Amino acid sequence: MDTLRAARYPFLPEAAAFAEKESEGLEQLLSSPSYMDARKRGLARVMGALENHEIPDATLIGTAQDYNRLMEVLSYPYARMLVSVIDDRLLTKKYALAEAVRMNTLLHQDRDSLSTVAADLEVKAQNNPDGTVSIHFADFLRYSYILKAVEWKLINMDVRRGFVRLESTKFDRLLQNALQNRIEDELPLTVPDRFKPFLQADIDHISMVLAETKRRLSPTGGEAVKDGYLPPCIRAIIASAQAGMNLPHSARFALVSFLHALGMNYDQIIGVFAQSPDFDESVSAYQIKHITGELNGTEGYTPPECGTMKTNGICFNPDELCEHIHHPLNYYRIRAREGKQRNAPPAQPAELPKD
Ligand code: SF4
Repeated sequence: MDTLRAARYPFLPEAAAFAEKESEGLEQLLSSPSYMDARKRGLARVMGALENHEIPDATLIGTAQDYNRLMEVLSYPYARMLVSVIDDRLLTKKYALAEAVRMNTLLHQDRDSLSTVAADLEVKAQNNPDGTVSIHFADFLRYSYILKAVEWKLINMDVRRGFVRLESTKFDRLLQNALQNRIEDELPLTVPDRFKPFLQADIDHISMVLAETKRRLSPTGGEAVKDGYLPPCIRAIIASAQAGMNLPHSARFALVSFLHALGMNYDQIIGVFAQSPDFDESVSAYQIKHITGELNGTEGYTPPECGTMKTNGICFNPDELCEHIHHPLNYYRIRAREGKQRNAPPAQPAELPKD
């Protein structure tokens, strides 16, 4: 068994086999002092993903390497249990991305593991004598569709007999997407209730940092939505809705998804529509619950970017700030920041040194 490979890529079946052979099961992992280092490392995986977008490095070679490799392998299921119990979309996405980026980084220095990792991720590929990698076009499309740069368009690729020929670094990038998708699909795991008390302290710690991260990332900074910071397009759509005009679907979608992204809940959003003279809640309720994800238990839809708003003919009255942004949420963020700076108390004069 290649224990170094198992520790580097703990999602591989050989890592699970290593853990099964050398450890005493999940109950012991959660409770025994012998596995405290694995639990600490599991927490570090999640915190690294949340705070720094990366899984911190670990020492896997040299003194105590057998012990370190086992702890590394065990830290992976522990981290996944933490993320699963918290079951938050942002955390799961950040964690999946960080694990996938770590795999990508490690593969740069470890080309021997490339085919094993690719096979485990069910990516059909073969190495070429010139150092490039050929990937089946179906896998290429599956894992490149979120990469928007023109260099990733199939039309710009060297395609031969159904395989796309890529530089190895580009191939690694697609593997990264494959692992990220897999982790996002697998989580949350079902964690038995009897395990949860052992996880609670770490869950409380992560949840606190997660709440602070969300507040920081929120366009409103966790504060109430202020009309004065809204972009002109959204203000125009609200004015039309409140005047009782029949909004096109694209405008309704943009408005509801935008207000939801600012943190407004169903009652607050329906309140915007309720000011219309011929308001009928039954008409708006389904749409709002669908767009905000309340109907299917998801986080809801992301509001459209300026390009899409323009294509849909609902980019109304753009002002000078609009020339510098690509998303209405960024408009709000910038106006909110400006507002905060205007209202900040004046800086205290520096204390002069005494003679
Ligand atoms: S440029 Fe963007 S933010 Fe400005 S009005 Fe158009 S869609 Fe709205």
